[in-house]
Amino acid sequence: MAKPKKLSPPNLDRVRNIGIAAHIDAGKTTLTERVLFYTGANHRIGEVHDGGAHMDYIAEEQEHGITISAAVTRCPWREHLIQIVDTPGHVDFTIEVERAMRVLDGAVIVLDAVRGVEPQTETVWRQANRFDVPRCIFINKMDRPGASYQRCIDSLEKRLGASPVPVCLPLEDGSVLDLVEQTRITFSGEHGEIVDVGPIRDEDAEVLQEYRESMLLACAEIDEELEELVFEEAEIPTERIWSALRAGTMARQMNPLFGGSALRNWGIQPLLDGVLKIMPAPLERPASIATDLGGEEDIVEMDSAEPLVALAFKVQLFEGRRHVFVRIYRGILEPGMTVALGGREQTERVARVFDVNAGSKRRLDAAYAGQIVLLAGLRHATTGDTLCDPEHELLLERIDTKEPVLGLAIEPESTRDESKMLEVMGKLCEEDPTLRFEEDPDTGQRVLKGMGELHLQMIFERVQREYGLKLRVGKPTVMTRETISRSAEASFKVDRVLKAGDKEIPLRAVVAVSVRPLPRDAGSEVDVEDYQIRPSGFSLNDEQREAVEDGTRDGITGGPVEGAPLQDVAVRLERVTVFEEGSSAQALRMAAAQAVRAALVEAGGQVLRPLMQIEVVVPDENLGTVLGDLQSRRASISGQESELGMSTIHGTCPLQALLGYTTSLRSITSGRGQFTMEFARFDVA
Ligand code: GDP
Ligand code: MG
Repeated sequence: MAKPKKLSPPNLDRVRNIGIAAHIDAGKTTLTERVLFYTGANHRIGEVHDGGAHMDYIAEEQEHGITISAAVTRCPWREHLIQIVDTPGHVDFTIEVERAMRVLDGAVIVLDAVRGVEPQTETVWRQANRFDVPRCIFINKMDRPGASYQRCIDSLEKRLGASPVPVCLPLEDGSVLDLVEQTRITFSGEHGEIVDVGPIRDEDAEVLQEYRESMLLACAEIDEELEELVFEEAEIPTERIWSALRAGTMARQMNPLFGGSALRNWGIQPLLDGVLKIMPAPLERPASIATDLGGEEDIVEMDSAEPLVALAFKVQLFEGRRHVFVRIYRGILEPGMTVALGGREQTERVARVFDVNAGSKRRLDAAYAGQIVLLAGLRHATTGDTLCDPEHELLLERIDTKEPVLGLAIEPESTRDESKMLEVMGKLCEEDPTLRFEEDPDTGQRVLKGMGELHLQMIFERVQREYGLKLRVGKPTVMTRETISRSAEASFKVDRVLKAGDKEIPLRAVVAVSVRPLPRDAGSEVDVEDYQIRPSGFSLNDEQREAVEDGTRDGITGGPVEGAPLQDVAVRLERVTVFEEGSSAQALRMAAAQAVRAALVEAGGQVLRPLMQIEVVVPDENLGTVLGDLQSRRASISGQESELGMSTIHGTCPLQALLGYTTSLRSITSGRGQFTMEFARFDVA
């Protein structure tokens, strides 16, 4: 019997897609665990320190106690559904944060109440700015000695240029004041799951008034009528305040503030209530801009009745099978449907549609605009692809993936694991676009490239744990290319006799070629169109012609210095001399390749090394030291600007001078400096 079809979209007014982002150790995972527990999504509380946290479901995350893979989890709360996209906190994995930001409707930024705004807080804040994500803030660890709500407010304003608006105020006794409803909330039960709402105590009246006033003033800037009520000191309906907070947050003019302690089960439920009241629902997200195949812009409104548009934002393996996370921006996705991958001349079939969850999933009959779902059966769709109706092909902006820069030579400890290693690496690269696995065609050496040392380290550990594969890892390597410095000509004569058994095969031919350098990044050219043949009047047969042309191409595969791939060189076949005997295809091919090699040596080889585009963000007071250090690394600085006490430096620098740079930047800036690099080009060091 066919399953009944779901006829209408889920009530998306009651869905909140949010991310939780923070500097490492602020308590993101601990907070998420509480959310899962209170919402019933998880029946026990897993603590980070005993490796039982639900969101950190990949084994090596549990070992390291940090979150690296963005997973999505559904948390039902007061007839609403909060979907949390867990975002990683380490700098090597910021691409995952960016991808998550792109599909979020709102974010909760977690601060450590003692430390306030930290370097990664600044990074995630900038990323959220880029994607216009509305944000509220949870000030965590209010239980720690030295915690200060007010100091956090100050650092939010000063270091992030945020507009913090207190909504809930944590009190020292483990309760929370609701500044809108003017109530005091207490938490009891084994895990703080019992929430009692009571009146304000006399001793709290003063602090309530102080913070409530600053909240009302912020609301008055959004809602003029509310402004009048505030000045008349009239009674203000709480609904009015909530809607001003919501409007202000969605307009990115406010960052509502909540606080407490995740570890002590203090203040989490009011945050969840706040998310429902203040954060936008999926359909309230502004329309997206897409382009059609002709490059014309098209506005994509969130509407299930229109043709499908969805964005793939993560590829992940579940039970060894490829799954793709998508956010639907328009239309409906159903199992069995054929979708086009925008701009890729590729269609494929969606086999199954699932509700997303960390580590487990649930089948759906249909998914609608605004939803985030997981698809099975797609073999080609990858991060950044737009899935659309084949009749209405569109492209949402692609998510940039960064070029991996650090390479480590790897080989299996046991040669028997050779093919297993290839298979495992293939799977991991599909899942993670910042990872590349390459093989040097000459040496056969395998190199795994990634975003940084920690990134690759995690991969190795995962390979060992999940696939039982042990790898030997070499020193970090920097890839090289070669080119030539001037034009040159050379000819090569083959004149020998090949002995094959008792037969003697003569090989005789002379080939002359010329080479010249091309501008950087022009690529290489081979010209075998128009060359002299001697003695005059002779012509080559097809086999000879092909051989001499192939030989010329063979010659430019490797450079003259260390045999690295050659680039930006033009080769021209000038002259071929054939003999009555011995000018076989083999002889011609050999002569041509050797002539090219001789010409390249004559032309003076040059080694090219990767030059990186760098961006370094440091506190103003460290700017001088950081610039000096960059100079000693032969960086060339193209610009710098300063904002909110942080300077951003742009420039280029050779990759090999940047190995270990993150560590030295951390020590110069006491951990506040941020550094990203991207491949620019191969150039003379
Ligand atoms: P994440 O890196 O942001 O995911 O942070 P975690 O949730 O892994 O927490 C980092 C550390 O801080 C762990 O040892 C937690 O037990 C601890 N922690 C988290 N929340 C609190 C809190 O509210 N108070 C205190 N005192 N410690 C906390
Ligand atoms: Mg974590």
